[in-house]
Amino acid sequence: MAHHVFGQSFPNLLGCVCGLHGTENEIDVAVGRFDAGGDWTAALSPADLVLSPAACYPVYPIAASRGPVPAEGWLFDVAADCFRREPSRHLDRLQSFRMREYVCIGSPDHVSEFRERWMMLAQEVASDLRLTFRIDYASDPFFGRVGRMKAVSQQQQALKFELLVPLRSEEQPTACMSFNYHRDHFGVTWGIADASGEPAHTACVAFGMDRLAVAMFHTHGSNVARWPTAVRNLLGFPRNDR
Ligand code: AMP
Ligand code: ZN
Repeated sequence: MAHHVFGQSFPNLLGCVCGLHGTENEIDVAVGRFDAGGDWTAALSPADLVLSPAACYPVYPIAASRGPVPAEGWLFDVAADCFRREPSRHLDRLQSFRMREYVCIGSPDHVSEFRERWMMLAQEVASDLRLTFRIDYASDPFFGRVGRMKAVSQQQQALKFELLVPLRSEEQPTACMSFNYHRDHFGVTWGIADASGEPAHTACVAFGMDRLAVAMFHTHGSNVARWPTAVRNLLGFPRNDR
C-alpha cells in the first residue's frame, strides 16, 4: 500500500520488483531467449514488492494499526535502504541509499514543536561535525503539472526545509538532511487519529547517511586519522596515537 501514496506524488521515481512468474516452460523459453542474446524482459511481470523510497513510509500504517495517538504523541526512530529511480553519475545522487529518520505523530502543536526543535538541533549537529551549511526552504520534485502546483504550495507554506552542504558548488548545494511537515496528509490517508479524534499531524526529519558521509570526506579529507580530534571523538573513533 505504501507505493500507493508515493505513486501519486512521484510515480516517475518508483522502483518496482519484477520477476519471471510463468510456468517452468515459459521461464525456460525466457532464459533461452537470454542465452541466444535476445530480449527476455518481455517475460517479466510485476511482483507485489515495491522498494521503499523513504524510511518513514512504512511507519504510518503501523502507527494507524495501534489506534489513537496518545496526548504525548509518538516518536519513531527508523532507518532503511531506500530506492529512487533517478540515475546520476554524481556521488551524492544514488539510486539506492541509506536513510535514517525520526518521525513525529501527534497534534498540530506537538508536531510543530518537533519541527522547530529539529530546525535548531540539525544545525547543532552539522556544526558539531564542522560542516559548512545553510538552511533553506525547499519543495519535493512532485511529478507532472499538478505536481508542480503542489511543489509551489509546499514551498509557500514552508512545509519542507533542508540542510544544504556545498559539495559540488555553492550554487548547487546538496541536501544532507531534510525536514518535512506533512500536516494531516498521512493522518487522513491512513486514518491515524490524534487524542482529540482529529486526523493526526505528522512530520519527519531525514538524514541522508551516504550524503553525510560524502560531506564528511569532502570537508575533512579522505584520511580519517587526520580529521579534527573533536569530530573523531564525537563519532566515537578510537583515540589517535599519532
Ligand atoms: P527527501 O525525502 O528527498 O527529502 O530525502 C531525504 C534525505 O535523503 C535527503 O535529505 C538526502 O540527504 C537523502 N537523499 C535523497 N535522495 C537521495 C539520493 N538520490 N541519493 C542519496 N541521498 C539521497
Ligand atoms: Zn520521511
